[in-house]
Amino acid sequence: MQYEPVIGLEIHAELLTRSKMFCGCPVVDLTQAPPNSAVCPVCAGMPGTLPVVNRQAVELALRVALALECQIAPVSLFARKNYFYPDLPKGYQISQYEYPLAQHGKLPIRTMDGERFIRIRRVHLEEDTGKLTHVSSEKESYSLVDLNRAGVPLLEIVTEPDMHTLEELRAFAEGMRHLLRVLGVNSGDMEKGVIRFEANVSLHPVGSAELGTRVEIKNLNSFRALIRATAYQIEQQMAALQRGETIEQETLGWDDVSEMTFSQRSKEEAHDYRYFPEPDLPPLAVERSWLERVAASLPELPFARLKRFQTQYGLSAEDAALLIAEYAIADYFEETVKAVPQVAARVVAAWITGELFAWLNQSGERMEEIKVSPAALGELLRLVSQGEINLNTAKTVLSEMLHSGHAAGQIVAERGLKQISDADQIAHWVAQVLIAHPQELENYLSGKETLFNWFFGQVMRLAEGRADPQQLRQELEKQLQTRKANHQG
Ligand code: ADP
Ligand code: ZN
Ligand code: MG
Repeated sequence: MQYEPVIGLEIHAELLTRSKMFCGCPVVDLTQAPPNSAVCPVCAGMPGTLPVVNRQAVELALRVALALECQIAPVSLFARKNYFYPDLPKGYQISQYEYPLAQHGKLPIRTMDGERFIRIRRVHLEEDTGKLTHVSSEKESYSLVDLNRAGVPLLEIVTEPDMHTLEELRAFAEGMRHLLRVLGVNSGDMEKGVIRFEANVSLHPVGSAELGTRVEIKNLNSFRALIRATAYQIEQQMAALQRGETIEQETLGWDDVSEMTFSQRSKEEAHDYRYFPEPDLPPLAVERSWLERVAASLPELPFARLKRFQTQYGLSAEDAALLIAEYAIADYFEETVKAVPQVAARVVAAWITGELFAWLNQSGERMEEIKVSPAALGELLRLVSQGEINLNTAKTVLSEMLHSGHAAGQIVAERGLKQISDADQIAHWVAQVLIAHPQELENYLSGKETLFNWFFGQVMRLAEGRADPQQLRQELEKQLQTRKANHQG
């Protein structure tokens, strides 16, 4: 029997608010702030305290829900999810359950097979837990609790079981991270744990309308872990079904070191969270006017921008994707194109994805920090398009611009880099090189035609890189032809 994987994803994303979800404590960087330095009686779960909803967290959640084209509930409810664990001081997490903030959305993805939508089941608000650090040595073993993260606003996004390949899973996960960053709701710093995935994986016979039994892999903190763990589960289930076994519903963890999933609990041990409406919070009402204001404040979304870059600028999907991966870079590209309408957008794109990307890599600077403005890059490209400097010179000039921040025109003038297209001068250089290398000339004339490029290089060197390459090529061809005719005659 032919089986097909079915994958549904739950995404937990911390929201970039200044304060926590239900109290005034600041949201701090866990790797920087001393443990338990951003904690108050509310987020420490002291009896008698009362939560208050963070309006900014709701606004950020609305941005995501709108971008995912969800239906947004005019009124949603917070609920208590009860369980006992050391990172959860109240003994329950405030979440949303039967009445979430938003439902029925979709996110477009692009794979080798084309474009399709992955449906979003729900988007809801909750609070993060504290962070546990387990210490164990031969003498003792204990766990440390840091409540700085307890109560940080968390957005949960749940998909329908719509993905069938690892490629789709990766495209969706990366697309979601990109969207969250573009919306300004999450930093996307996955190594800091600000986005976590849970993958639900099952197999069913190809074409079957029924879903197979699923397992859920918890706490996947990187794309790599998400893909590896899912691939591993697909293989395990495939092998089990081939052996005629059935799949047990269970919750799994992922071990990054051994690259294997391990069982955390079976269906029988599943938690009963005893959800009930949070009595300390009123229903969350979202007025129309607020929703309209948030909708009007959304940036152009990644998929729309990708499409526009292809149609408006004639870029390939790959180049467009490279540029929009960082909106600062996409903006830079568009401003440069505007600055030099006479230069093809594709040429501008090639300079950015080639020379500028290399510089960003090498210098560690971000696009916002580089010393070359879009207008300054535009000026350089104008000099090239007008034939004032050749391509090689332009690369040298750009490198100097990136280091010093000086303008292209100034560098060209100061260093005498202007391209030389004086025909007599070029003819003179070519003749000089041919005279200086009688042996190579003889070899060339006897049929070693590959020496053409070598001669070209020699003349360019003599011209200190400033000769118009087109003209130089023609002149070299002409003089070699003449010699050839003499040689044979
Ligand atoms: P919970 O994990 O809290 O029980 P749900 O039952 O709503 O929540 O399912 C969570 C996720 O599991 C969703 O992303 C959903 O698409 C996915 N899912 C549900 N059934 C299957 C299945 N048979 N195979 C793969 N994914 C599934
Ligand atoms: Zn607090
Ligand atoms: Mg789940």
